[in-house]
Amino acid sequence: MSERTIRNQMWIGNEWADATDGYTFATVNPATHETITEVASGQAADIDRAVEAARAAMRNPEWRDMNPHKRSRLLWKLADALQANADELGALETADNGKPYFEARKVDLPSVIENFRYYAGLADKIEGSTIPVAGPFLNYTLREPVGVVGCITPWNFPLSLATWKVAPALACGNAVILKPAEQTPLTAIRLAELAAEVGFPAGVFNVVPGFGETAGAALVAHPGVDAIAFTGSTEVGKIVMRGAADTLKKVSLELGGKSPNIVLADADVRAAVRGATTGIFYGKGEVCAAGSRVLVERSIYDDFITEFAARAEKMTVGDPMDASTRLGAIVSEEQLDRVMAYVDAGRDEGARLVAGGERTSVNGTGNFVTATVFADVEPGMTIAQEEIFGPVAAVIPVDDVDHAIEVANDTMYGLASGIWTRDIGTAHRVARELQAGTVWINTYNQYDSASPFGGYKASGFGRDLGHEAALEKYTQTKSVWVAVDG
Ligand code: ADP
Repeated sequence: MSERTIRNQMWIGNEWADATDGYTFATVNPATHETITEVASGQAADIDRAVEAARAAMRNPEWRDMNPHKRSRLLWKLADALQANADELGALETADNGKPYFEARKVDLPSVIENFRYYAGLADKIEGSTIPVAGPFLNYTLREPVGVVGCITPWNFPLSLATWKVAPALACGNAVILKPAEQTPLTAIRLAELAAEVGFPAGVFNVVPGFGETAGAALVAHPGVDAIAFTGSTEVGKIVMRGAADTLKKVSLELGGKSPNIVLADADVRAAVRGATTGIFYGKGEVCAAGSRVLVERSIYDDFITEFAARAEKMTVGDPMDASTRLGAIVSEEQLDRVMAYVDAGRDEGARLVAGGERTSVNGTGNFVTATVFADVEPGMTIAQEEIFGPVAAVIPVDDVDHAIEVANDTMYGLASGIWTRDIGTAHRVARELQAGTVWINTYNQYDSASPFGGYKASGFGRDLGHEAALEKYTQTKSVWVAVDG
């Protein structure tokens, strides 16, 4: 990939544009510390332009009145275009984010493509209902687009999480302005180019890269934006909610997590160790649903720790483009510093480091850390309460299933959770009692376009994926009354 081929501007109204006053920011490859390209840094005035383009698209009959079958076909065509360019998109994602190419190309991209196909299927099945009201009236509902949807997305799964929002928002007939994370804007920009190539009308899909405090905040506050779909930290989620209050936008927030992965004594322990390993180390642990607290019943605790630490040691740190690499580069130096500060906190508070914990480099450079496991973690310790967003597992011993549930629910978060047991009754009871938007039983980190994902408690509200959640977030219901007594 030469710099010449990498798009780095804003995409507004189906045109490339520089940011106001020519502001740019560097996007850096975290594995090499090389600047990939300088990207247009959207300002408030650029958000104004994007909103104008999106509002015009919502008035344009070409989009507003588009036959839903055609809207469906457009989304399907975009999926085909993504498929045709999947190698390039995977490489772009890896360069920008530092994740292993295998993860970007073989896991993220297929799910992105599937996601567009899933919502292509929804586009022409958005129905209202007829309602049996009192009196001589016909009452029916119309499900209409919300209007202009601002999507603000994070850097851990840049294309994937963007499409979790963009695909359903477009399927429901909205116009979209996407503000990707400043660390990883490149695949979103490429997505815009592909959307235009397959024929989305001007202004239907716009991308304004830039910083959260400038482009992001302007999008949230803009009176011409009807809804904000946000994925990011709980801290910024609160700012977004406040920022959206003045203009009464519809807000949905998918925020942080500190997800418990419970291993009971009757579990298939080997499978549980594997699940705990992928649960925390997949995606470098930069995963909002990461199983960062591993709660293990005491009778199997020592053996579990030995096997888990051994597996962590096998998580090869390396060049993300190398097929043998299991742990890529942490997205930024700033994020690596945060992770290392948590490793220090774990040590200082008396947890036992049994694997990893070392900052390292590949070919003498890059933001790397070894897969880290802390044992003997107490539920109140910093590393058991705060989201680290890195490859650091906190293993907490628990007495029995009830104790496990109590500890599992003892955080402000409620995004995901896992339970490993051979007892089917226990599994379902625990699934009901965990305060989390997702429960994985004898598995971890499963996702599907059809299955809703989102948080309880401080992990946010609103759901991504699935069809009900999409309709709830990206449509609004109109009730129509018709007098029928002649
Ligand atoms: P992370 O911890 O994953 O970096 P953030 O919550 O910081 O999560 O960022 C998620 C997204 O929110 C990014 O696109 C970022 O630019 C954006 N963002 C950050 N601050 C704000 C803000 N004040 N208003 C709107 N968006 C913001």
